[in-house]
Amino acid sequence: MSQKHRVVETSWKGFLPEDAWIMVPKPEVCNTDVPSQVTQDIDSIDKIKNDLLFKDSSGCQLCGLCNTRKNIVVGEGSPTADLVFVGEGPGATEDETGRPFVGKAGQLLEKMVQAMGLSREQVFICNVIKCRPPNNRDPLEEEINACESYLFRQLDVIQPKVIVALGKFAAQTLLKTDQRISQLRGKSFSYRGTQLIPTFHPSFLLRNPSAKKEVWADLQKVAVELGIEIPKRGRK
Ligand code: URA
Repeated sequence: MSQKHRVVETSWKGFLPEDAWIMVPKPEVCNTDVPSQVTQDIDSIDKIKNDLLFKDSSGCQLCGLCNTRKNIVVGEGSPTADLVFVGEGPGATEDETGRPFVGKAGQLLEKMVQAMGLSREQVFICNVIKCRPPNNRDPLEEEINACESYLFRQLDVIQPKVIVALGKFAAQTLLKTDQRISQLRGKSFSYRGTQLIPTFHPSFLLRNPSAKKEVWADLQKVAVELGIEIPKRGRK
C-alpha cells in the first residue's frame, strides 16, 4: 500500500511544483510478535504439568496407574536448574502429597543435596513415572513407555548441566540400556548432550548404608561438573 505525501524535501524544489503530490511506499511495519505456530510449539514446565494434571479432565490416563493413584507427582524445583535428579516413581507419601521424594528416601535425598551445598529449591527433582504403582511394585515396561515422554520433555525444557539418575529405572530409561545399576554407576554418560551420572537410589541406601560412600563419590563428581565447591561439613 502507498500513501499520498505532499512534497517537502527542499532539494526537490524547482523540479516539481510546490503543491505536487507523489506516491511513496508506506513504511514497513516490523512485526515483533512470534508467529502463533511457533508460540504453540514452545514447551514449558507449566505446560507439561497441565498436560499431566488436566488431560482428559481428570489427568493423564496413558496407563493403568491412573486407576489407583491418589495424586500425579509431576516433579518440583527450579525450572532452570543446573542439576536434575531423576528417581523411579512416587511412593506412598509422594502419592498422598503429590510431591516427589518427600518420604524416607526423599529425606535422605534432601540430605545428599544439602551436603553438596545446594537446596531442594535450587535443583529439580522428578521421576520416570509420575503415578505410584500399587504396593510400591516396580514400574512395568508399558507404564514406563507410556510415561517417559513427560520426563524427556521436562529435561528438554530445563536443559540442566548434569542429570543424576537415581537407581536402575532412571538410568535404564534415559540411557536405553538394560545394564544393571552396579555396572552403570561410577561412569558418566551423555543424555542428548547432557552429562548423566547414574548412582544408587536413596531407597537402596536406606537398606545398604555402606553404599553411601560410592554415592558420595558420584555427587562429588557432579559438583566438579557443575563447578561448585562442596562445603566443608559435606566433605568426607
Ligand atoms: N522413590 C522415587 O523413586 N521417587 C520418589 O518420588 C520417592 C521415592
